[in-house]
Amino acid sequence: MVLNKKIPTKIGVLTSGGDAPGMNAAIRAVVRTGIYHGVQMAGIIRGFTGILENDIVDMDNRSVANIIQRGGTILKSARCKDFYTKEGRAQAIKNLQQHGIEALVVIGGDGSIRGAMHLGNEFNFPCVAIPGTIDKDLAGTDFTIGFDTAVNTAVSCIDKIRDTMEAHDRLFIVEVMGRHAGYIALNSGIATGAEYILVPEAHTSMKRIATSLNEKTKRKKLVNLVVVAEGYGENGAVGFVEELKKYLPNVDARISILGHIQRGGAPTCMDRLIASRMGYHAIECLLEGKQQVMIGIKNNAICYTPFEDALAVQQITHDAWLKIIKILAS
Ligand code: ADP
Repeated sequence: MVLNKKIPTKIGVLTSGGDAPGMNAAIRAVVRTGIYHGVQMAGIIRGFTGILENDIVDMDNRSVANIIQRGGTILKSARCKDFYTKEGRAQAIKNLQQHGIEALVVIGGDGSIRGAMHLGNEFNFPCVAIPGTIDKDLAGTDFTIGFDTAVNTAVSCIDKIRDTMEAHDRLFIVEVMGRHAGYIALNSGIATGAEYILVPEAHTSMKRIATSLNEKTKRKKLVNLVVVAEGYGENGAVGFVEELKKYLPNVDARISILGHIQRGGAPTCMDRLIASRMGYHAIECLLEGKQQVMIGIKNNAICYTPFEDALAVQQITHDAWLKIIKILAS
């Protein structure tokens, strides 16, 4: 862990990349903990873009009032191309220095943490990150902000779809978010009693699914739910049905793509809690002189993971989970 001898007197906070419910609760915790410690707090609008465009505002306790329950992010989020270049990042450092900002709290996913890591490695600029992503695709933490809300939204939507599935004895294919990680699919699929769950990280034999569906039809098990992560195969749920039709040409499958609905809405109690804890500890961490780490929660304890380790690929324990699904959906 990198140690910073100079304790920052002004800290900037930003949200970057894909937004996630609970980011507001994290901003609130960061700002209020900073103010509590007598640190000046600055909000950067639209992530790294806001640094380059000098879109930076002073924040106090009132700026973050009445936001803990709101989805989205009051600081707005964006994707910033210039940050992929060293010149862009050098300009960002200049702008931060002009504003007197001596450290940064970055709330975002793996891309945003990569951006923060470069600022630290190239310019020794103190950064800490808070994992804000519905995908939960970071090592070094059991939770990421937004995952619990997204998965609960998916579960509530799939429950509704199940009612109509039951009424018509239908095969339904529901696509949930997760371009590279199958956590939302795996969790929402198990919680809704899905027969099959398809994730980007694992290959599933289409022939085996087709055979098994056929066998279930013979047993008069006509209601079948397949939960597919958007990043599965070539084209998520649509690609899955195209493939399935090669084996079962007459299959009558309905597709429902849940999409961005999973990003919105009020954060769950769990997301508000972890966001509040992580936001508080992000400031404590910087004031302890620690930097270049992601704040995480493991086994219910706060931990600091170096950026490089947090970005290491995290594998799902597929085999154990898939066995449970197979037994419970028979
Ligand atoms: P997320 O943080 O949700 O994973 P992105 O991957 O889009 O979202 O990353 C958000 C922003 O972080 C990007 O628009 C870019 O400004 C910055 N970023 C992402 N990857 C890098 C990288 N390798 N180097 C520098 N900046 C990066």
